[in-house]
Amino acid sequence: MIPFPHRNDLIDLHTHKMTVPAGVFAITNLFVQDIHQWPPGHGAAFSTGIHPWHLEQVDRNSQLRKLESLLNDPMVVAVGEAGLDRGVDIPFELQTSLFLEQVHLAEKAGKPMIIHCVRTYSDLLDILNQQSIGIPLIIHGFRGTREMAGKLIEKGAYLSFGHSLLHPASRQAVYFANLPAERVFFETDMSPLGIRDLYKRASALKGWSLDEWVATVHNNYSSCFSS
Ligand SMILES: [Zn+2]
Repeated sequence: MIPFPHRNDLIDLHTHKMTVPAGVFAITNLFVQDIHQWPPGHGAAFSTGIHPWHLEQVDRNSQLRKLESLLNDPMVVAVGEAGLDRGVDIPFELQTSLFLEQVHLAEKAGKPMIIHCVRTYSDLLDILNQQSIGIPLIIHGFRGTREMAGKLIEKGAYLSFGHSLLHPASRQAVYFANLPAERVFFETDMSPLGIRDLYKRASALKGWSLDEWVATVHNNYSSCFSS
């Protein structure tokens, strides 16, 4: 059965934690090379992919084949995190090539992609301007400018916000209320904070009730994940 959030669940779009609190629906991320047995222990939703940081540590072809077969499992609801990162010393061409290979596998499987994007928003935008990608793309941990948020949303992307939204000086907090809510997700990623803190912060920034965000993010999940 395909894991799907209950209407009242808080959705944590991207986390590395294996335990999911009651009332939360989370997509737990596993790096392909870390998966030694399947299923990995509990009946939840997972994303899996080859992270740009690991490209030189893994046998890329065998990991791509492993990813392709994992995507047959309904528990794997998305490819990711995969993407582009100019903060690491990994050849950018190699990053782009592995990213596009994973886009291709996601398209074949008809599953969305959770994207790691560090100092590469304009690179991603170039890719989106050059080719049309037939699956929903969710940029996780979005920290870009308001202008970049607008451009990526215009190209069809969803933006997932994490702990940086809580920071009083966060630039995302300044423009957050003006983003189209139907393109927004929240995530805890590596942070110890709870997903409820993000929903509360979003409610305060937008002047919405928690329930309005719960309903909106649920709808966003439905549009993204029920193809
Ligand atoms: Zn992550």
